[in-house]
Amino acid sequence: MTAPAHARTSADLIRAEEPVLAHNYHPLPVVVARAEGAWVEDVEGRRYLDMLAGYSALNFGHRHPALIQAAHDQLDRLTLTSRAFHNDRLAEFAERLAALTGLDMVLPMNTGAEAVESGIKVARKWAYDVKGVPDGQATIVVAADNFHGRTTTIVSFSTDESARAGFGPFTPGFRIVPYNDLAALEEAVDETTAAVLIEPIQGEAGVIIPDAGYLTGVRELTRRKGCLFIADEIQSGLGRTGRTLAVEHESVVPDVLLLGKALGGGIVPVSAVVARREVMGVLGPGEHGSTFGGNPLAAAVGTAVVELLETGEFQRRADELGLVLREGLEALRGHGVTGFRARGLWAGVDVDPALGTGREISERLMREGILVKDTHGSTIRLAPPLTVTADELRSALGTLEKVLGQAG
Ligand SMILES: *Cc1c(COP(=O)(O)O)cnc(C)c1O
Repeated sequence: MTAPAHARTSADLIRAEEPVLAHNYHPLPVVVARAEGAWVEDVEGRRYLDMLAGYSALNFGHRHPALIQAAHDQLDRLTLTSRAFHNDRLAEFAERLAALTGLDMVLPMNTGAEAVESGIKVARKWAYDVKGVPDGQATIVVAADNFHGRTTTIVSFSTDESARAGFGPFTPGFRIVPYNDLAALEEAVDETTAAVLIEPIQGEAGVIIPDAGYLTGVRELTRRKGCLFIADEIQSGLGRTGRTLAVEHESVVPDVLLLGKALGGGIVPVSAVVARREVMGVLGPGEHGSTFGGNPLAAAVGTAVVELLETGEFQRRADELGLVLREGLEALRGHGVTGFRARGLWAGVDVDPALGTGREISERLMREGILVKDTHGSTIRLAPPLTVTADELRSALGTLEKVLGQAG
């Protein structure tokens, strides 16, 4: 591998960011310079196993050869047209994504937050045009402790004060109910309700998995009450939980599906709203759009991502390696781990607060060559690329055991 000569050390680069970059993140003090598969390398050549995988944007690992090839091929032909014209890559992307998800129509966007915003707009328009809700009165029911992104409308229905404080006034039209509570949902949904918007597993909240039957219940309730079920699978989708979609664990098909993160293969931002034809059909020309949404580079990479998922290999790996992950975490219960929630290759691990904050544990793991990120308080999340091997996973769990043994 030929690398550019780095004049500056990690410490120099971290210092250099401080005066010129907004302080909206608090990254671990590691400066990544290159990566391949499940491994990243810092400026000084130290190697780390990536157990975060870009919050699941890197489900297929760093620089998966098939995805890099698709991107290179497309870079050499055509990168951007805008939707003022057709491009020769978009039809196949939409066809294959719709087929993969069991839905009909695709609205291509770029970031996850844009997919959420677009899903909200589609649901509101559907409520007025199809359901007959009086203009301006549509409501959307969401869950407490949700994470759907960072736009002003999305933080309007966040329950996380640090995401909201100082950013008002907020967008009206949202009702918040406890997650995993069908009775509360039953009460909140009325004739004004356009949609129920939830994460099938709440990622940022700490990998919170609802009780068996919850998603089935949401599907049944929304159908019975005549509103849409929007599943935000931006983090839970595309192989992470051992299925293409997390809703498949209960064989549930939502009306509207929100995808992002891994859809861009870790190369470009690609997101999408995927919906039933009767729902997406409410959008007409000029009513919604995005300059970069559906660009040919994004479509080429997105198609290559769908192609990887069509093999079923990554879902199978997540399922099988998920057993290794759960076994390893089970062994740590009572040895620094007070509890955990896991599905597929995705876990939220509660560490005994006496051993340190999630941040402190993450920093100790970093010094031992494992990259993770804390969520809230003493919870760390594990979400390695689905290409990680069983041995690498066991080794990471061994390192976690060592770090928890030393802590305090
Ligand atoms: C990351 C995430 C988003 C927002 O995606 P961005 O690309 O960061 O805008 C929305 N919903 C869920 C569930 C996410 O995990």
